[in-house]
Amino acid sequence: MFRCQLCGRTGDKRFFERHHLIPASGRKTSPTIWVDYQCGDIIHRLFTNRELKQRYNTLESLLGAPEIQRWVAWVSRRPLERHIPMTPPGRKIGIARRKIS
Ligand SMILES: [Zn+2]
Repeated sequence: MFRCQLCGRTGDKRFFERHHLIPASGRKTSPTIWVDYQCGDIIHRLFTNRELKQRYNTLESLLGAPEIQRWVAWVSRRPLERHIPMTPPGRKIGIARRKIS
C-alpha cells in the first residue's frame, strides 16, 4: 500500500510515482517524495521548474502553497482511479486555481 505525501490517499503502487523535489539539474541528488499520478501531474501544472527549485523544494513548502492546499482539499475526496481532466502542461490555469466548493 502506497500513500500520497500530498493528499494522503492510499492505494496500489501503480497509481504512484516519485516526485523529485529539485527538478532537472538536481535530479540525481534530489530528494523525492511519493505522490499519486494526479498530484504529481498538478505540481508541474501549477508551478514551473524554476518555482519548484527555488520555492517549493521541500514537502513542507509544497504543502504550504495555497494552490496545493486547494487541490488537496478537492482531490482527497476522489478516487485514485478516476481521470480528472486538466489543462495542458505549461498552462498556469488548472483545476486547482478554480474556486472549489
Ligand atoms: Zn495525492
